[in-house]
Amino acid sequence: MSNPSFLQIPKTPVTDLGEAYGNHLFVKRDDLISYSFGGNKVRKAVLFFEEIDRGGYDTVVTYGSEPSNHCRVVASLAADRNLPCILITKVEDGGRGKTTNNERLAAICGARRIFVTRDEVHDAIEKTMEDLRLAGRHPYFVPAGGHGNPGTHAYVQCYREIREEEERTGTVFDRIFLASGTGTTQAGLVAGKLLHGDPVQIIGISIARTNPRGENIVRESVRSYLPDFPEEEINRAVIFDDGRILGGYGKADEKETACILDVWRRFGIPLDATYTGKAFYGMTCYLGEHGIAGENILFLHTGGAPLFFDDLAAGRLTKDKEEENT
Ligand SMILES: *Cc1c(COP(=O)(O)O)cnc(C)c1O
Repeated sequence: MSNPSFLQIPKTPVTDLGEAYGNHLFVKRDDLISYSFGGNKVRKAVLFFEEIDRGGYDTVVTYGSEPSNHCRVVASLAADRNLPCILITKVEDGGRGKTTNNERLAAICGARRIFVTRDEVHDAIEKTMEDLRLAGRHPYFVPAGGHGNPGTHAYVQCYREIREEEERTGTVFDRIFLASGTGTTQAGLVAGKLLHGDPVQIIGISIARTNPRGENIVRESVRSYLPDFPEEEINRAVIFDDGRILGGYGKADEKETACILDVWRRFGIPLDATYTGKAFYGMTCYLGEHGIAGENILFLHTGGAPLFFDDLAAGRLTKDKEEENT
């Protein structure tokens, strides 16, 4: 059984990168959470595991893609408790890709994979849960990506940390940018901002979904967390930019790759092609297109270090295609 205090996430650092892209740039390093390579999936999953611990569940089931950071973290937290873990894993339309670092890290935690196609996901989850119950188990399903009120709450807590940082340093952030997938992370920051009545703008850069679906899912998550809050205010506070999907989920175009290299060389900060690279590059485009200059900009680094190393090993950040793994 795990030591609960080690799952208390300490405040993550905010790094001042100075003048960059016409603004004063800061990065909040949620990628440096000191557990399982960190990232937003740790903040979220820890709260779901509080429910798992309280409810006396004996098996953990979740769902994700082959490179999923969420599956890695859930596998770690389950292993820590000696709970069997089943990862329903969606394979891309073209079939199984190369084994990812996140898959390897989940495997060494003993997690079992069930590979399914996109169309099979729903039924596979139902059947897995049903079979476990019939076998006398008490399984818990963690929603994909840690979506749901506990996940939203994790980023309300992160928003409080951002405010504390502002109070400590006297810097007020004008805008916060982040990678938005299921939108739960963004929903938490937006809920935090609304609860405090702050003017800061929170801009989610979509890594896959398009509008209106993308922004509506973020709004729904905020509404579910703040059911009594005026709906128009929630709608206005959700900015979901779907213009930066570029090469598509998991794929970088040349400009995104150039940006990832630039950030590594200048600041020593790793960005991956799927999430943080798209969001960071999208942020630089957004700042330019909206004529934003001289502001304090905070980029929330949501993690994904194992993906950075996948990209590196596959030669996606270099031109040496001959280095690709086989
Ligand atoms: C999952 C993930 C996101 C997206 O988070 P959501 O809450 O699903 O929007 C962003 N960055 C990284 C590195 C992730 O793993």
